[in-house]
Amino acid sequence: MISNKMMEQVSKSSVIRAMFEEGNRLAKLYGRENVYDFSLGNPNVEAPEEVKKAIIEIVQQEKPGAIHSYMNNSGYEDVREAVAQHLNKKFGTAFNAHNILMTVGAAGGLNVVFKTLLNPGDEVITFAPFFGEYNSYASNYDAKLVVVPPNTVDFQPNLEAFGSMITEKTKAVIVNSPNNPTGVVYSEATILKLAQILSEKQKALGTNIYLISDEPYRELAYDGVEVPYLTKYYANTIVGYSYSKSLSLPGERIGYLVMPSEMADFENFVSAANIANRILGFVNAPSLFQRVIAKCLDAQVDLEGYNRNRELLYNNLKAFGYECIKPEGAFYMFVKAPVEDDKAFAEMAKSKNILLVPGSAFGCPGYVRIAYCVAYSTIENALPGFKALIEECQG
Ligand code: PLP
Repeated sequence: MISNKMMEQVSKSSVIRAMFEEGNRLAKLYGRENVYDFSLGNPNVEAPEEVKKAIIEIVQQEKPGAIHSYMNNSGYEDVREAVAQHLNKKFGTAFNAHNILMTVGAAGGLNVVFKTLLNPGDEVITFAPFFGEYNSYASNYDAKLVVVPPNTVDFQPNLEAFGSMITEKTKAVIVNSPNNPTGVVYSEATILKLAQILSEKQKALGTNIYLISDEPYRELAYDGVEVPYLTKYYANTIVGYSYSKSLSLPGERIGYLVMPSEMADFENFVSAANIANRILGFVNAPSLFQRVIAKCLDAQVDLEGYNRNRELLYNNLKAFGYECIKPEGAFYMFVKAPVEDDKAFAEMAKSKNILLVPGSAFGCPGYVRIAYCVAYSTIENALPGFKALIEECQG
């Protein structure tokens, strides 16, 4: 009885469900500590102490009505203004509350953007490898996700192929840096070129093409690498931000959209996004956590925890003979499978109690994603398995 579209979604999500169930099955057989689950992007570094302090302070000091009530669909005005000023200080931008819409995480924000922009049949371009849920978000609005093939040399977006894939149907382009699944940070040179191609195509086609920057991993960047702020490079840019990873709060569902005043059709966009947030059923972003993040704008998770994992995993995998790029951000490593078939390799890894996600799930077969947001000891204990796996593959 369920809808045809949901039938399709259910069958697609079975890979992730199967992985989850496999983790539980192996844990029952061998004990949770002997299963090396690298399949989920669930932060293991704890939320900073400021978050706990802020929750307690707000609950103790404010009247319940001020914390728990309905509000403007876009969120508390003072929180939006605080977010805007925080961004201005950090990036030299000139945002105010009107440019900010508080969202139910990045996923909620991206759905608001897609609902606001997309007519059935419109196209959204993304670059492989990409976060697979973009397909579902586009399908929610009967739009089509067009995937630019990967550049497996350095995993910067493949801008050679990009230009010719833009058509009059292209309504938006979505990028994600630091990237899930590669951990690659898109360089300033990449962004400049991307912006140039988009500007030229807008002119040639006489359309507006929006650039959506999905950046839940912005704060997770190592060795001081710069993550360019895209509104500075291209006027029709919308930023989708989330605290799921930057403050380790994925279950609380809090983030925001930045809609710069210089983007095309700005006022209509802001009004429509405000309504979209409501009618998608979010109504508004969680009220307590809006208040919390306003008190925690400068708080940070302990990046060194992820960095230690990154160094341990990368150095050892390279020493064992695996091919991969050292990630500059996020908490993922994208490793070339030592056999051609990434799904077959992920199956082999299970025999060592190691759970990985095949690159096919991100539009990039031949690779696997390792989410290293796990205990240091999980990586240490999984290393002999990784070594044995490549030795078996090389036979
Ligand atoms: N975008 C990317 C690239 C992600 O990796 C994720 C979550 O893993 C999301 C969006 C959704 O994030 P949120 O939990 O903030 O909705």
